[in-house]
Formats: sequence, C-alpha cells, structure tokens
Amino acid sequence: MKKLFKNGKIVDVEKKETYAADILVDDGVIREIGPHLQAPRGARVVDLRGSTVLPGLFNCHVHITSEPDPRKPKPQNDAALTIQAINNLALHLSSGVTYVRDVGSANLIDIELREAVRDGRVKGPDMQVSGRCICMTGGHGWSSGRQADGPDECRKAAREMLRAGADWIKVMATGGVMTKGVEPGSEQLTVEEMTAIAEEAHKKGALTCTHAQGNAGIKNALKAGIDCIEHGIYLDDEAIDTMLKQGTWLVATLCAPHFILKHGIAGGVPEYAVRKTEIVHDHHFASFQKAYKAGVKCACGTDAGTPYNPHNGTPNELVLMVRAGLTPFQAIETATINSARLLGVDDILGTIEVGKKAHFAIFKKDPTEDIENITDCEMTVKNGEIVYKK
Ligand SMILES: [Zn+2]
Repeated sequence: MKKLFKNGKIVDVEKKETYAADILVDDGVIREIGPHLQAPRGARVVDLRGSTVLPGLFNCHVHITSEPDPRKPKPQNDAALTIQAINNLALHLSSGVTYVRDVGSANLIDIELREAVRDGRVKGPDMQVSGRCICMTGGHGWSSGRQADGPDECRKAAREMLRAGADWIKVMATGGVMTKGVEPGSEQLTVEEMTAIAEEAHKKGALTCTHAQGNAGIKNALKAGIDCIEHGIYLDDEAIDTMLKQGTWLVATLCAPHFILKHGIAGGVPEYAVRKTEIVHDHHFASFQKAYKAGVKCACGTDAGTPYNPHNGTPNELVLMVRAGLTPFQAIETATINSARLLGVDDILGTIEVGKKAHFAIFKKDPTEDIENITDCEMTVKNGEIVYKK
C-alpha cells in the first residue's frame, strides 16, 4: 500500500537541520522525499499540516515486563507479566518509540514478544532482547536473573540465553540501586566470568552489555571486552579513554535516578533505593557529561520499568540530556541514528532517507526548537503504518 505523508517538516538528524518535504512510502519503505510530490494512483494521503517528522525513536534500555508504579501489586504469573508487557509495548509506541532493546525481563518473555511483534501477532516497537540477565549468586538483579558463579558456569549461562534466542547478553558487573543489600559501587561478576560470557556472545555474533555503576566494576567489564556500559555512574578519565579506544558504548539512563528521587519514599520507593540514589545521582550526571564531551558513543535508554520511569517516558531522557548540556539535535541524534548504530540497524533505520524503513515519530511542535516538545507525540508510524495517533 502506497502512502504519501504530505507537508512534513523533516528532521535530518545527521546534518542537524530541518526542511519541508513530502514522503512517499510503499511497502513500508521510504521511496521518495521531496517538495510537492504527486500522490500515485490509489495512494493514501496523510496531511501532516507542518508537523515535525523525526525518525522513530529508540529506547535501548527497557525492562518490558516491569511496572514502574511501585504501589501496584506485582504480577504473580507469566500470563499477567505478559499482559503487562504488551501494554508497555503500546506505551512505547505512544511516545514515538519504534525500537526497544530489552536488557532483562522475567522468564524469557521478552524473547517471545520479539517474535510476536516481528510476525504481527502483537503491536509494538521492534525489539532486541537479552532474556534473563546473568548475575552472581545474590548479586544485583538476582530475583529474576540467571545466577552463575565462576567462568564455566557463566559460559553455560550465556550459552543458555543464546540458545533461547537472546540478541544481547546482559551481565551485572556491579551492585545497583534497586536490589536490597547490594551496593552500586561494589564489584560483582569478575573479569574472568565476564570474559567467558563475552567470548560466547561474540562467537555467535551477539553483543554484550553490562549494568555497571562503580568504577572498579566498569573497568572489569572493559577488560572483559563488554560492548556497552549501562548507567556508567562512576566513570573516570581512564575508563573514558578505554571506552574511546575500544569503541565501547554508553547508555546512561539518566531517567532512572531522576524519577526515584523525584517521587522518593513518599511515592512508595523503598527507602534503601532512595538512599543509594541520593549518593549516586550527581556523579551519574557528571559522568555522562564528561563521557559525551570526550566523544564516547552514547545511545538513548531510560531503564523503563524502574520506579516512576514509565514506558512512554523515552522523551524524558532527551529532556535530561539537554539539561546536561547537549543541544536538542544532539539529544535526538543519540535516540535515533546513534541508537540504530548500537543495535546494528543503521542501514535500515535511524534517519529519514530513501530506501530506509518508514519509522517516524511525529510532533505538532518542533522538538529541535524546544526539546520539551518531544514529550507530546502526535503520531507514530512503523513500516509505513500509523500505529499510534493522539
Ligand atoms: Zn535496567
């Protein structure tokens, strides 16, 4: 089915400029971009009336089975978790997000969902998934993760996730905020354990990412050859240098501590989580600023599913990035083409270009002029289909 999206203000995320044009889509792919295109016979015309068209947004750090409201009862079985996850996928679409990377879900539900979205049984953003995270016994994320100790068992755990169909292997290099009794600064999986996991992933063409907050744990992960650092709260010059040399990515998830502190104990966030977040918040912000400035490759992720960090909240991360000193265009770049590069799909997604898939996030007011405008999505298009309309 041909579709002509008329009168758009298109954002070129690489040249960092906007221009007025129409977009002709056929079979889910962008066929032509230009002023005053003629609608081919039988094409549906969608008049955008000057709205701003961005490439579909990416969120590279979500927990799709997790509910962000800590006061709501936790789902008690896989059926309830799956229903919750399907609702969460719809929330992502409603905020302009057409691609997510799940970095830790309960019971491999994310892997099933990726397949269901791929073949059209469930409506949602495209997904890359990691299944269960691999952590040490009693380590961060142990309640839903795959606990493994020693290089051999870690290797086996990685093979299990790969067998189940994971695109990414998520490991826990340090403690974290949301698990009781572990500290964000403490080291967890060892260099040897993470090296075994990275070897197995890379052998199969999969990639690795790590929850890494404290400095020593970050460096362990870098020594092990992990591809992407999540959070990266205590980065120093040495870690940043290594990331630059190795081409390691950073997904900072500025939203996670922001919302824990915003709602706090009064909002039902456990006291231990609030206390730990108070300690790390400013370091986290400063680390992101320093890494971005140094040229570390940064992609966009929110940690959606952590307290008050909603599945329609990806735009909040861009607002926080601008607060950290990025221009609106730079923030948009991280959530589009940069994230597409991290996920290895930049040949088909991440920019609005002829030959790429028609994934768009459309906004009444231009987010490149004021990043707050990105929090008000008017329409989301995926494979040329309108999958959300306000
Ligand atoms: Zn997370």
